[in-house]
Amino acid sequence: MDARLEAIRDTVLARNPGEGEFHQAVTEVFESLGPVHDRHPEFLEGAVLERLCEPERQIIFRVPWVDDAGRFQINRGFRVEFNSALGPFKGGLRFHPTVNLGIVKFLGFEQIFKNALTGMPIGGGKGGSDFDPRGRSDAEIMRFCQSFMTELYRHIGEYTDVPAGDIGVGGREIGYLFGQYKRITNRYESGVLTGKGISWGGSLVRPEATGYGTVIFAEEMLKTRGLSLDGQRVVVSGSGNVAINAIAKAQTLGASVVACSDSSGYIVDEAGIDVALLRQIKEVERGRLKEYAARRSAVTYVDGGSVWDLDATVALPCATQNELDGDAAARLVRNGLLAVGEGANMPSTRDAVAVFQEAGILFGPGKAANAGGVATSALEMQQNASRDSWSFAHTEERLTEIMVGIHDRCAATADEYGDPGNYVLGANIGGFVKVADAMLAQGLI
Ligand code: NDP
Repeated sequence: MDARLEAIRDTVLARNPGEGEFHQAVTEVFESLGPVHDRHPEFLEGAVLERLCEPERQIIFRVPWVDDAGRFQINRGFRVEFNSALGPFKGGLRFHPTVNLGIVKFLGFEQIFKNALTGMPIGGGKGGSDFDPRGRSDAEIMRFCQSFMTELYRHIGEYTDVPAGDIGVGGREIGYLFGQYKRITNRYESGVLTGKGISWGGSLVRPEATGYGTVIFAEEMLKTRGLSLDGQRVVVSGSGNVAINAIAKAQTLGASVVACSDSSGYIVDEAGIDVALLRQIKEVERGRLKEYAARRSAVTYVDGGSVWDLDATVALPCATQNELDGDAAARLVRNGLLAVGEGANMPSTRDAVAVFQEAGILFGPGKAANAGGVATSALEMQQNASRDSWSFAHTEERLTEIMVGIHDRCAATADEYGDPGNYVLGANIGGFVKVADAMLAQGLI
């Protein structure tokens, strides 16, 4: 890492102790930015990096609620409003027991660059809670969401901060959150949340967008080597929103998707995943992946273990951060891997990324490859602002254009900085320069 940036990075780490994922995300971005500061000394003079690493606002709050047995429950809520140079803070809410400030900050930090790469007018933020939705009834989820919004509402707004979904937050949760926002504020402010239901301000393609976008990005990377997804053997981790839609899109492009996982285990279905059955179990019944194996013949369920023990030519990690480590990466590379498209945020450890890059694997980092979700959220905001709703085909076409544009910008930036094919470098520099220019233009804020 460039010595000037290393000193700034070390200060950031010392000021934010115990936030391992945030440290990892900052380090990974800083490693790409040395050459930019040679060309743009004004970024150093303007203390852009120091400002960028300090969120504009961090909100931590108590979320009290009552479970079905009448017991009082207390969770912790977070919203980190990281950077609004390009537009209102924008980024999802995660409900998962592992959520803490460091995780929300890593996600919010990544979001700044991702949102810049989309070319849409959105800043970066992220939020969530250590609430565990698993095993909770609809009524408990509703009471939790209402309590969460009872504090959050005062911090958000269509021109201020626009949350969306992430792990544990899908259409059901966005519905309860929106209902409570409307009730407290007495405003039907569609643009305050994205990921809404279609009949009340949502956008077609938003549920599919992250997974579809990841696959479009992977296809664009493969094209640079004269390849395509057609006929590839694809392994996906996760079986939530991003994973299911990535599987569906990869199949339409001719790939054979043979495996996916949840946090309990993984399935191997050599005939190709039956997406309709997977959706029924995970989205309708909110069940476990194990049930997929019970309902379909010739499927293996592996309890525990890692889906990255399997061979694949294309890997799509779509579950969570740091799920794919250096050993798994080396094994995948030895066994014929061609490309990785990160549907999740930071699913590959730093070791794994190094292995992929050294081996010349096409590697699409999450902040570029999974930007289709937030980009389509921005399209939802556009539709809300104009009181319009677009067709599926039109919205999907916009998503495709945006993802191809992100791919091409990352590739062109990597070329410009003398490291062709390095999408990590391209994404980090491409996103950073846009935000840095806007920050300097807006003065010391
Ligand atoms: P979901 O909650 O819909 O699904 C998450 C999936 O990942 C589930 O299958 C879950 O299994 C699995 N998972 C979660 N945590 C772990 C863990 N610690 N170990 C193993 N598996 C785990 O979330 P999404 O699909 O929305 O999000 C997945 C990833 O994509 C996240 O990294 C998120 O930040 C990222 N992302 C999401 C976007 C979106 O639009 N939703 C946009 C951009 C990025 P289980 O059910 O067993 O918990």
